[in-house]
Amino acid sequence: MRSTSSEAISYSQYGPPSDVLQLGKVPIPKNLSPNNIYVDILAAPINPSDINQVEGKYPIRPPLPAVGGNEGVGVIREVGGQVKGFARGDWVVPLIAGQGTWRRSAHFPANSWHRVPNGLPLATAACLGVNPVTAFLMLTKFVDLRPGDVVIQNGGNSGVGQAVIQIARAKGWKTVSVVRGRPRLHDLMTNLKGLGADVVTTEETLKDDLASAQLPRPRLALNCVGGSCSAAIAKTLEKGGTMVTYGGMSMKPVTVPTSLFIFKDLISRGFWLSADDILTGQKAAALDQVVELIEGNQFRFEGELVQFNDFQKALQAGKAGKQVLLFDE
Ligand code: NDP
Repeated sequence: MRSTSSEAISYSQYGPPSDVLQLGKVPIPKNLSPNNIYVDILAAPINPSDINQVEGKYPIRPPLPAVGGNEGVGVIREVGGQVKGFARGDWVVPLIAGQGTWRRSAHFPANSWHRVPNGLPLATAACLGVNPVTAFLMLTKFVDLRPGDVVIQNGGNSGVGQAVIQIARAKGWKTVSVVRGRPRLHDLMTNLKGLGADVVTTEETLKDDLASAQLPRPRLALNCVGGSCSAAIAKTLEKGGTMVTYGGMSMKPVTVPTSLFIFKDLISRGFWLSADDILTGQKAAALDQVVELIEGNQFRFEGELVQFNDFQKALQAGKAGKQVLLFDE
């Protein structure tokens, strides 16, 4: 029998996630529209942009009350009469944000979802649509990198950062990853090197580590931090190099010395996965390319799986590793 409601983590006003998010039930329409699919969500991560959305600080604002979550992986339970290319039992991931993936089941427009191979590791599949695709597109869209070229990034241990390292390694590009200092920094460096990182360093040691690595100057810099750390990576670029800003984790403006624009012709760009040009063509193709890397054992992702009714614990600031809510009890 069809369910008429689903458990969901929702919010009816913007604010701090731990205050405004609540576990409850949301209705599921009785009839499936011809262009929709009925999806049971298996797992869905908590990304920084999900938090910003609940806080009301993100450009995509679903009408309230809204179910949280923008990505995840689900299995199709039923297919609408007009839907082509999907079948019951297929695993799917969302192509567009704002659909509310922190719930057990829902009807979604079929053209907003993309099929992925069944049986991928659950955390990897749940986190496929945002971070790896962002990494893939930033590495391929702005600079025509040649084998042996160097890419520098900050936030090197973030989900995107780890994807950048692995995709670059698969393509023959070298990476320099800047991370923040911490008590067991050596362990983090070892982990990232295990993924294929060439240089892992901190803002303070970047200059010396780059000199001793004897790599060519980077052609591309990927910035998700801002503040002094954006200046630090931009300064390492070759003449005419490109810095792409895609996040602002330090909450500080991007600062770049004027001289880099004048004397080194620095190119400064921005990237947003939900931009129209990305959604209308590039995202689905990038997803397929990342799946190929996973199937070729060139890409993996380890999130921390948490039962969805423990979402408050998963939301706690300072959690190490990506928290992935599990709905497949
Ligand atoms: P994760 O949650 O996996 O990691 C967060 C990263 O941010 C960690 O490296 C963390 O470092 C770092 N960080 C947190 N606070 C600070 C701070 N105050 N100063 C410097 N670094 C900090 O993140 P994601 O990989 O999911 O996302 C990374 C960024 O990319 C976010 O800003 C996100 O919004 C953005 N993003 C943008 C997209 C786009 O389309 N533009 C798409 C996907 C992501 P530490 O371990 O030291 O705390």
